[in-house]
Amino acid sequence: MKTIIEPFKIKSVEPIKFTTVAEREEILRQGGYNIFMVPAEDVVIDLLTDSGTSAMSADQWAGIMRGDESYAGARSFYRFQDKVRELTGLKHIIPVHQGRAAERILFAIAGGPGKVVPNNAHFDTTRANIEFSGAQAVDLPTAVGVDPDAMDDFKGNINIPALREFIEKTGAENIPLCMITITNNSGGGQPVSMQNIREAKEVCKEHGIPLFFDACRFAENAYFIKLREPGYADRSVKSIVREMFSHVDGATMSAKKDAIVNIGGFIAINDDELALKARNMLIITEGFPTYGGLAGRDLEAIAIGLEEVLDEHYLQYRIRSTAYLGEKIVAAGVPILQPPGGHAIYINAKKFVPHVPPERFPGQSVTVELYRHGGIRGCEIGSVMFGRRDKEGKFIPAAMELVRLAIPRRVYTQSHIDYVVEAIIEVYRNRDKLPGYRIIEEPPLLRHFTAKFEPIV
Ligand SMILES: *Cc1c(COP(=O)(O)O)cnc(C)c1O
Repeated sequence: MKTIIEPFKIKSVEPIKFTTVAEREEILRQGGYNIFMVPAEDVVIDLLTDSGTSAMSADQWAGIMRGDESYAGARSFYRFQDKVRELTGLKHIIPVHQGRAAERILFAIAGGPGKVVPNNAHFDTTRANIEFSGAQAVDLPTAVGVDPDAMDDFKGNINIPALREFIEKTGAENIPLCMITITNNSGGGQPVSMQNIREAKEVCKEHGIPLFFDACRFAENAYFIKLREPGYADRSVKSIVREMFSHVDGATMSAKKDAIVNIGGFIAINDDELALKARNMLIITEGFPTYGGLAGRDLEAIAIGLEEVLDEHYLQYRIRSTAYLGEKIVAAGVPILQPPGGHAIYINAKKFVPHVPPERFPGQSVTVELYRHGGIRGCEIGSVMFGRRDKEGKFIPAAMELVRLAIPRRVYTQSHIDYVVEAIIEVYRNRDKLPGYRIIEEPPLLRHFTAKFEPIV
């Protein structure tokens, strides 16, 4: 059979509230044309993020009831620890309430002034936590990885020659660890090859630098390796995951992604001394080392989710349904960042509305129209988020003007995706009429969350 179906039946449903175009226009006006200001109830299909928005399985919900809420040494902790150890082979497993808590703890102990941390591309919270510690975060993507139109199997790879050069220039003593983000979220959800992981490890090992994963989407990355890298087609995803982790000395993870839960995360480290420091920090800010800011039931649900995410029927459906959305809109001429990533499709707004210049926010224009027209919520990743002004007040645009459509795990069916495809194509046909925007009110930091806009008509 060729047809790939959702590998689950639906036991519990959440109704979708339908709104009219006129109602959504009013909602947009009320919220200052900022999609973060739209109440989730008024969204038809919510593709704002894949983080913490997954649907848990019947087994995970049963796990929620089984969760052991003992303060110390809860049964649920041991189950969680065993599962993370089984997959990563790493020694010390430290639960935290979400990914950025893992980052804050790791860089509080390993970062600091004078230190520099390289990555294929830092996620924004990772970069923020490194910089908050006083250290510097450096991205080392490959040339093909930053070309939105280039077709390549592993656009998430870290640039190995650049990493070598970077270490020689910076001095290994100033590099507390090197990271690889799998899949590369900031680079479009693109995977990293096993060969690249192996080579990065060799370079790091030569200089005595520990290698860490930002492991949020480790299962999606492993499935891409199975599909695309020679020699892995007949391997189980679990064995690929174990091989990936065999090359690293530690990892941070947001369980809100590939552990298919709504909250949680962990740090995993081999080094005894670093683990001791991390646990000391954990007790001050998160909780006792056997719950780390989570309830016992959360640990139980994570342990189950980490097994379910390796189901190859699930991963086939997951990766195909994202690609399906990408392929359908590309066939209608819609420009996207190629090829489709694991968790999201990124519309190239610069090409979608070429008449809207970067200082009028093309990504914002497309984002607002997708909501107005179809009730679909995407996320602008462009000059609203990353644009700035220099000292003379001159506008400096973001490198790319994108609209991210992130797919929550196990939440939407193919007909929901077909609806999204139809809406995007209709918006695209009408693209000449989309206005640019100007900011009429903005906070000093992270303006994309709360800024108010006005269409320029
Ligand atoms: C989501 C994410 C994080 C941060 O995790 P939170 O749970 O949102 O704090 C870090 N790195 C990557 C690659 C992510 O996608």
